Amino acid sequence: MSALEVENLGFAYGAREALQGVGFRTAPGRFTALLGPNGAGKSTLIAQLTRLYELQRGDIRVAGFSLRERPREALRRLGVVFQQSTLDLDLTVEQNLRYHAALHGMPRVVANERIAQELQRQHLAERGRSKVRELNGGHRRRVEIARALLHKPSLLLLDEASAGLDPASRRALNEHVRALCRTEGMSVLWTTHLLDEVQADDDLLILDRGRLVAQGRAGELSAPDGDLERTFTRLTDNPVAA
Ligand code: ADP
Ligand code: MG
Repeated sequence: MSALEVENLGFAYGAREALQGVGFRTAPGRFTALLGPNGAGKSTLIAQLTRLYELQRGDIRVAGFSLRERPREALRRLGVVFQQSTLDLDLTVEQNLRYHAALHGMPRVVANERIAQELQRQHLAERGRSKVRELNGGHRRRVEIARALLHKPSLLLLDEASAGLDPASRRALNEHVRALCRTEGMSVLWTTHLLDEVQADDDLLILDRGRLVAQGRAGELSAPDGDLERTFTRLTDNPVAA
C-alpha cells in the first residue's frame, strides 16, 4: 500500500489556479522530496493534505484512508511541520509539546511518556526545560518534528523545514530526517526549493506552477549526466537557488 496517494488534485484561490491535475503515490518508509520553485504550490499541497483547506477537486489517501471519506483515520496517520514555525517561544520545549498533546486529547500520563520518548529520539532530551527562545533554529525545528510525531503517525510531512537555517544546520536537519526513514521506517514527504537537499536515491516529485512536471528516482531523473540542476531548469524554466 502507498504511504500517500494523491489523485487528480486541483485547487484554486478564487480565480487563481494553484494546483492542477496533481497525482502521485509515495512508498512507505521512503524519503520523498517534493521540489519546486517558490510559488509552485508546495504549501498549498501541504494545506490540502492536512485539510487546512477543504478539498476542491480530486482526492488524497493516507495509508489507504480517503481524506474525503475517512478524514479522521487519514489525519491520525499524518504528522506535519509547517513552513512557518508555530512554537510558543516563551514556553519551554516540554510545555509546547504538552499543550499540543492536550489539544489532541492525549491523557497526561501518556503525553509525558511520549514527550520523553520523542525528545530522546530527536536528541533533545536535555532541552525539555529550556524555553524555545533559547534554542537555535535547527533545534527548534527538531522540537516541531518531535511534536509532529507525538501521536505516532506513519507519514511525516515537512514544508521547507530547513528554511532560514544556516548551511550546516540545514544539512544536519536533512540528515536527521533521512535517519528517521532509514532506521525507523518512517515515510517522509520533504518539500523544498533547494536542489542540494535532494539525493540520488530519493523518490523525487517536481512541481512547477501547480503541475507535477516529473516524478521518479532522483538519480534517474538527472540522467544521463547526473546533473539534477539541469533537469530542474529544463523542466521549470527556473534558475535554481543553491
Ligand atoms: P510554494 O509553497 O511552492 O511556494 P504556494 O502553495 O505558497 O507555493 O503558492 C502557490 C500559488 O498560490 C502562488 O501563486 C501563490 O501566490 C498562490 N497563493 C498561495 N496562498 C494564497 C492565498 N492565501 N491566496 C491567494 N493566492 C495564494
Ligand atoms: Mg511554501
